[in-house]
Amino acid sequence: MTVRVADIAAAIEEFAPKMLQEHYDNAGLQVGNPVTEVTAVMLCLDVTPEVMREASRRQCNMVVSHHPLIFKGLKNLTGADATQLMVMEALRKDMAVYSAHTNLDSAWNGVSHEMARILGVKNPEVLEKRDNDPHSGLGVIGSIEPTPKLEFLRKVKEKFNVRAMRYSSQSDALVIKRVALCGGSGASLIPEALAAGADLYVTGDVKYHDFTNYGQQIVIADIGHYESELCSMRVLSRIIRQKYPDMVVYFSDDQRNPVAVM
Ligand SMILES: [Zn+2]
Repeated sequence: MTVRVADIAAAIEEFAPKMLQEHYDNAGLQVGNPVTEVTAVMLCLDVTPEVMREASRRQCNMVVSHHPLIFKGLKNLTGADATQLMVMEALRKDMAVYSAHTNLDSAWNGVSHEMARILGVKNPEVLEKRDNDPHSGLGVIGSIEPTPKLEFLRKVKEKFNVRAMRYSSQSDALVIKRVALCGGSGASLIPEALAAGADLYVTGDVKYHDFTNYGQQIVIADIGHYESELCSMRVLSRIIRQKYPDMVVYFSDDQRNPVAVM
């Protein structure tokens, strides 16, 4: 069975329509010919030179990422920066690069749902509904068996392989029942998590003043942008394998967290 770049794109967009993306986003086919037959797919969070090399080495001619390779737009193609170099390399090697970003965040069973699944959060509902649609929007909220704050935070740290987790220092005696989650930079949804009755909110890229402004009312856990969104690859893999069970799909081994801790 011939599977083309456009077929993989269509499978992803059936699950996460491009109209669900935020206005600033650039999800969709970044580089490549839609009619090229796909040999194998390489999944990653960010497209990097390491991922591109790994894709070639493993005979993948399609890279599917969560973060778009081309985000701000390109006015020329001269190899002046890393993005341009990767676009040129993709063209040279006849590789396609496809990205499912905020549309995958807002899709039902998207990235935040996957986070909920990892933590055993039940009955997830969308945190910030899109156009009042209960089945699309950013973040989720659901319930867990009542668990002491620190015990649940230890579980979060373990499940997401967090090296150093930042969390609200107040009220260690709290028992957590309602948990909200949002992959990536979700600090702007802290008020929504609070209004929806979450005891604890898991996301990335939380600022100091988010902790000072809200930390008394809700336990915030910053697990890191990368750590929170690695599970996007599981979502993408499931979408592709469901439609094309014979397609070879790899999770990148060579990508790494651009943020180190010491
Ligand atoms: Zn992200």
